Amino acid sequence: MHFSNEFNIPVKFCVYKTADLLDVVPCEGGVVFLDPGNNRNWNPAPGEYNTSFDVRVFKPQFIDQLLGRVAGVHRRGLVKITPQGQVVLDNTLLYHNIEISYPAMVEDVRSLDELVRHVSTAAERRLKVRAVGGGYSFSDIAHTDGCFLYTHNLNKVLSLDSDVLKAGTNTENLRKVEAGITVETLNKALWAEGKALINQGGYDQQTIFGALCTGTHGSGITLGSIASTVRSMHILTCDTNRAIRQVQVEPSDGITDPAAHKARYPKIELIQDDDVFYSCTVCFGAMGVTYAVVMDVRDSYWLKEDRIKQPWSTTKKQLLDGLVRNTKYRHVEVLINPYKETSVLTFREEVKATAPSGQRNFIQTELAKVALLVHMIQQMANSNPSGVPDLLESALEGTTDSGVIDRCYEILNIGPANEMPVVSSEMAIDATDIGKVVVAVEEIISTFKNRASSDDRYITSPFSLRFVKADKGLLSMQYGRDTCMIEVPMLSKTYGLDETLRRFRAVLEQKHDGRPHWGQVLEIDASAVQKMYPKFDVFKRTYQQLNASGVFSNEMTRRCGLDG
Ligand SMILES: Cc1cc2nc3c(=O)[nH]c(=O)nc-3n(C[C@H](O)[C@H](O)[C@H](O)COP(=O)(O)OP(=O)(O)OC[C@H]3O[C@@H](n4cnc5c(N)ncnc54)[C@H](O)[C@@H]3O)c2cc1C
Repeated sequence: MHFSNEFNIPVKFCVYKTADLLDVVPCEGGVVFLDPGNNRNWNPAPGEYNTSFDVRVFKPQFIDQLLGRVAGVHRRGLVKITPQGQVVLDNTLLYHNIEISYPAMVEDVRSLDELVRHVSTAAERRLKVRAVGGGYSFSDIAHTDGCFLYTHNLNKVLSLDSDVLKAGTNTENLRKVEAGITVETLNKALWAEGKALINQGGYDQQTIFGALCTGTHGSGITLGSIASTVRSMHILTCDTNRAIRQVQVEPSDGITDPAAHKARYPKIELIQDDDVFYSCTVCFGAMGVTYAVVMDVRDSYWLKEDRIKQPWSTTKKQLLDGLVRNTKYRHVEVLINPYKETSVLTFREEVKATAPSGQRNFIQTELAKVALLVHMIQQMANSNPSGVPDLLESALEGTTDSGVIDRCYEILNIGPANEMPVVSSEMAIDATDIGKVVVAVEEIISTFKNRASSDDRYITSPFSLRFVKADKGLLSMQYGRDTCMIEVPMLSKTYGLDETLRRFRAVLEQKHDGRPHWGQVLEIDASAVQKMYPKFDVFKRTYQQLNASGVFSNEMTRRCGLDG
């Protein structure tokens, strides 16, 4: 059976019935899989087939990815088989946290040339364009119904062109990388040469630009978000005539020598301007597609982790006594069970080491991997909500450890807990005065307790506090103030999840000038974003210059009032 799909190539239709499906796949021209689930004897007859089929459409090169990490490119939903034997797909695209009506064009980008070609084609076809990184954002910032560009294969560490840098620029801790390299791949590459990222979040599957442009952060009041480490960005955008425009954007005192750059790269316009640069860091892909960035790194280092469970009142006292700025520790972070008012305080210190030692808690490293267990916890949380406080207590207990030493990136990554099916919201509040942070935390504790007592709805994971240095990115959640990031992850099928997260965000937004994490669940509109970010107008001006054609607009830019 054959049919044409949006790739406009003849495609074979294959019902796979064995576990060794790759052995039986006809590859030429692309292939569609319909997985009949347990029904191995299924033979498609004319009609409609809904919900139980896993439909995957791959261009030939996607077969490679099927075997690798990017196997999430698939569509699930309605399949119609006409009496003429034609297969009609009416599906959505699922890619990690992204679920959208299938875009008009999907391309897998491997080089700058391909990027230029695909953006040109899309612009000519008058499609909107969105690059996607890991697809891990919970919000719809990476969504488009136009041209969807996978950037996972833009994954190289590039050589820095020292000849175009200003005289005297120290390049020892500068690295140039393609935008789609994952934090994991970059960490390993850097470690191999005795270097490391300055900081990262608790996960490493994001791409560097996907993380950077949503304000992704780790913890440490003297350490900025990933965006704060970027020095230069190479962005592809379109001019008013929808023709490709390549820009290299840097701060006013940027590292590049304008004359040398012009001579070497006449087609790439160098913009050295603080307003433009700090609009383009945390910009959620609104300024164009970023090809590569130059960022600061540092010498590699080892970390020691201690995680202590104690009453929230003890942690609170330590925070009020100045723990967040205590230089003995590289950083601290906190997990809180609001119902029992307990907490786990995490301390991480740089240490001299040559090999890992100690081990994280078995519950944290192993049990989180057991899908069935996660499912049972979810069921229990929904069917017996009053048992949730005890569940959270066990979860807290499961994170405790003592004296675990490992490479920085191994300690900073929280590990298998990242694979749990959660969605989360995270709010940024001013951490200049820790007393005010504590007040906000106690209001959140009351909010969750009230929701439990009045509606029997609970959060299904401890919530966390992390601390991040002020950032210059005009739409960075950490803009202009040292920040406490408060995150509430919830198992994704928790009853009442949306409303619980909404109440959490409302308390912090309305009473504590909170700003939501761009990559997490958020509701934001033009008036809110304007109120939260004093230099929003400057950001908008840059957006109107760089995205003059509107090619990179999407629902998020529209909601934020950027397109009006
Ligand atoms: C398990 C998990 C753990 C997490 N842990 C943390 C954490 O510890 N700290 C934290 O702050 N956040 C955390 N997050 C949030 C996450 O870091 C952000 O959502 C991040 O943006 C995801 O990166 P990504 O590569 O998946 O980007 P995507 O979600 O794919 O994209 C994010 C944005 O970047 C744009 N984009 C991506 N690549 C390009 C490009 N080349 N050019 C232009 N635009 C581009 C997209 O259009 C989109 O607007 C976590 C999320 C998950 C799912």
